[in-house]
Amino acid sequence: MTRILLVEDEEKLARFVELELAHEGYEVERVADGRAGVERALGDDFDLVLLDILLPKLSGMEVLRRVRREKNVPIIMLTARDAVMDKVAGLDAGADDYVTKPFAIEELLARVRVALKRHAASSPAASGDPAPRPLAACGVTLDAERHEVTALGEPVELTAREFEVLHSLMEHVGRVLTREQLARDALGYDYVGETNVVDVHIAHLRAKLDDRFGIKLITTVRGVGYVVRES
Ligand code: CA
Repeated sequence: MTRILLVEDEEKLARFVELELAHEGYEVERVADGRAGVERALGDDFDLVLLDILLPKLSGMEVLRRVRREKNVPIIMLTARDAVMDKVAGLDAGADDYVTKPFAIEELLARVRVALKRHAASSPAASGDPAPRPLAACGVTLDAERHEVTALGEPVELTAREFEVLHSLMEHVGRVLTREQLARDALGYDYVGETNVVDVHIAHLRAKLDDRFGIKLITTVRGVGYVVRES
């Protein structure tokens, strides 16, 4: 059974999330402060940690650092809407993803599924195949194994989700992917309303790659979606 540790001090929210996760078939353990979060995350084998940022006793960010130092367990942060710095710092400190409060439960469940899937795919036990070769197009390479991207030989910093969007496009060079496909495959959303998130990530990717390096990597196919064509 997939086990999830929920570190959240808001009683009502925690109970709601716990019930929904249990309904999806996950086994959930709940703790209400940061110190207990670290203790449980390090003391037991969970498949995923849902981590609130504003916590009593020890901040979520500190929990994240301490757990990440010792464990590779997927961690999804629960952050306040305007806490941009928390999100950036959290991803830098090794969080796999974040969900902004207040969230729709479907969004949280989708993120949980994606993080679990991604982790299972990257764990040594699952990779019987030889390491995949880095993907390449238009002077850009993407190494999924090492989670590295370069443009014209220079390393490029991408967020986890920008990386996933680019990964989808470069895995299907020459094929136009719709915004819905990208939202579903790269971000784990399975509903149509969130596809504008894809446009935001595409805009960021263009700024970091196309504009910065003067290349033409991502092409918009009007009314359809996006494509990376061969060099
Ligand atoms: Ca809180």
